[in-house]
Amino acid sequence: MRTAIATPSTPPLATAAPPQIQGWCPGALRPMLSGDGLVVRVRPHAGWLTSAQAAGIAALARQHGNGLLDLTSRANLQLRGVDPDGHTALLQGLHALGLVDSSAECESRRNILVSPFWQPDDGTQAIAAVLAEALAAPDAPALPGKFGFAVDCGAQAVLRASPADIRIERGCGGFTVHAEGYATGACVSAQDLVPAAMALAHWFTAQGGKRMAALAPQHALPERFQATSDFSPSASPPQPGPTAVGWLVGAEFGQLQADTLAALSTLGALRLTPWRMLLVEGLQHAPKIDGLVTRPFDARMRVVACTGAPGCLQAAAATRPLARALAPLVPVDQLLHVSGCSKGCAHPRATLTLVATPAGFNLVRHGTAAALPDLLALAPETIASYLFPTPHAPRI
Ligand code: SF4
Repeated sequence: MRTAIATPSTPPLATAAPPQIQGWCPGALRPMLSGDGLVVRVRPHAGWLTSAQAAGIAALARQHGNGLLDLTSRANLQLRGVDPDGHTALLQGLHALGLVDSSAECESRRNILVSPFWQPDDGTQAIAAVLAEALAAPDAPALPGKFGFAVDCGAQAVLRASPADIRIERGCGGFTVHAEGYATGACVSAQDLVPAAMALAHWFTAQGGKRMAALAPQHALPERFQATSDFSPSASPPQPGPTAVGWLVGAEFGQLQADTLAALSTLGALRLTPWRMLLVEGLQHAPKIDGLVTRPFDARMRVVACTGAPGCLQAAAATRPLARALAPLVPVDQLLHVSGCSKGCAHPRATLTLVATPAGFNLVRHGTAAALPDLLALAPETIASYLFPTPHAPRI
């Protein structure tokens, strides 16, 4: 029998304090304090790590952190549990691997998501490098902390489901540069691509916005960025398994042990993805490494959960044990997000969402962690019957 619960029309039994919005992402030079120590985020250039860099990061995570690494939705790698006293030595190690920017500002601006399916002759790596250089220049626009670019220049766009304020894609017989939230973009040549993206970024800062999409209702784009609305559809996010350029391997909740990263580094260069997967370049068979998801449609990839308690100071409850227990019940075509608070770090998009509060878990049937809940304060052991109401829904 279901327990009595509050509904959205009645006040919740207890409300969590609003989460603290930092408005910036951690970096290597500017780490963020979490419940398990410093979070140090490494931004590999163009989302690409040589075998030596990957092995080096694994060693540094063991030496200076708690040995856990996160794959982020911006295709970066985060070292967790770093002792503040070891941060300087960690930076020296990352610097030796060529993974530290010249300043925290440059690091923050170099927020470039790259399609992991790039081919050597499609220009992706060169575009990302020139864009990074432009963002490090003294006249680069002062962009807000979460502002990002997507370089998605394969035959088909694959990154549209991942947030990015400015997108560079193929189109118009060359390339397009378009702004998130707007239906039109500019047609550009390879030579004019990065200057056009920077012009759009300068226009954005002149409007004084925080994210590009928020400008769309009130601010018309410069004429040049109204040239085309003919964008090809984006592919759906991929599944773990073989691809044309290597093998995609997933990690439950996007978290890897340092030993797992070290083992992967022996198989080839690694490309980071925004889907909590790594692409092992050139690999044509599933790697035999414990703790990885190597085949499509694994239930573990149907749930996302943030660090939760105790690793995050803002979390009202643990998230991952509940997500792990619910994963086998989630239908193949659904995604369940379990969030430790209404900030929803692990998945900023609308989906089936559970949000921890001091009184229990709020359920949002389709929305972000910040959306108005449909049900309030569910006890963890009853949640399965609300999410998947069959006569025999198991109790967690
Ligand atoms: S969403 Fe999760 S990781 Fe983000 S602040 Fe809230 S509890 Fe922490």
